[in-house]
Amino acid sequence: MSEPVDDEALVKRFPWVQITHDSKHLFRGWLDERLLINRCDNCSLFHHPPKPICPECWSSNLTPTEVSGRGVIHLAMFLRQGAPAPDVDYLKGPHPVVTVDLEEQEGLRFSSTVVGCPVEDVKIGLEVELTWIERYGSPFPVFRPRTEGAS
Ligand SMILES: [Zn+2]
Repeated sequence: MSEPVDDEALVKRFPWVQITHDSKHLFRGWLDERLLINRCDNCSLFHHPPKPICPECWSSNLTPTEVSGRGVIHLAMFLRQGAPAPDVDYLKGPHPVVTVDLEEQEGLRFSSTVVGCPVEDVKIGLEVELTWIERYGSPFPVFRPRTEGAS
């Protein structure tokens, strides 16, 4: 676990994303390589991206809750150009961006890229798990194909 960081320090660790009051717990989790998704204390529903109230029951009692990061690719896009990032080289080939259905809840989705396999293996329905790379010196959540037999 890293040292707790205040809001100002948090913003400095992620200069390339917009951090709001509602999303700051998400990025604090990244520093510890934990994917924290808002979960409603009232009805137990997860939602993402973070909102100030539960989209189901409107409760504002939300708890950032760690999820496994396991899921199945729901949508895959292959970018040939886009925002620059230190781990992305669009000239080398298309950069995959996927939306993954997380196993915790039907329709709970998180988007990132896929590492650890050729881009042609990135397909809808592929079982993936969360892993972390470094981007601008801070942990960044990405997916990789799930290893056979691993839980
Ligand atoms: Zn709720």
